[in-house]
Amino acid sequence: MTSQRTRDRLIDRLQQKGISHPEVLRVMRLVPRHLFVDEAMASRSYEDASFPIGHGQTISQPYIVARMTELILESDNLENVLEVGTGSGYQAAVLGALVKDLHTVEVLTPLYRQARDLLYKLGYRNIRTHLGDGSWGWPDAAPYDAIMVTAAPDEMPLALVQQLKIGGRMVIPVGSQNSEQILQVVTRTSESEYQVKNHDSVVFVPLVSK
Ligand code: SAH
Repeated sequence: MTSQRTRDRLIDRLQQKGISHPEVLRVMRLVPRHLFVDEAMASRSYEDASFPIGHGQTISQPYIVARMTELILESDNLENVLEVGTGSGYQAAVLGALVKDLHTVEVLTPLYRQARDLLYKLGYRNIRTHLGDGSWGWPDAAPYDAIMVTAAPDEMPLALVQQLKIGGRMVIPVGSQNSEQILQVVTRTSESEYQVKNHDSVVFVPLVSK
């Protein structure tokens, strides 16, 4: 159930849904998603679905991972990138294969530890995992060429915009849990200005803020 054929079927499915970036498809064919889900779920791990990963959190649906990664890769030469919401570490593994350095922040200690150990075991040496509240970004490694947020705040966190380089972009789902959340691409256009473009309607767990 985790064979290359099963994985290839997921890639076909992503293409049918409109994912076309060759690098995104190449990397998603390789990353072993079954290792990022609970063992009981492993046989279903190449379905285009999200699954619980414990502690009330979920591993994102492959289509959403692919879509967000495509939106991030619209800028090239991504050297220093931040992900907020490590969760299972699956999105980090996909993104980490496509950028030079990836920092990823998780607020829940058990998820942080599990993802850190798994990403290390799988050999992703350019991914730095951090424990903390990522709604404040990760200032120690800022500024970033790009930021990907995989949990939804009610409103755009300005602290994150400020950690983007000028010209840098952030992909983030914005909206409350009771209403529609929109996947937005935010481009920092100057020291004090940014542009927002709305994309897909999505469902994410909340970005908690301490
Ligand atoms: N990228 C993940 C998706 C995980 S779901 C994956 O591929 O599996 C979102 C994650 O964001 C959860 O693990 C949740 O604990 C985390 N999170 C929520 N608020 C956060 C915050 N303020 N800082 C860092 N992580 C946060």
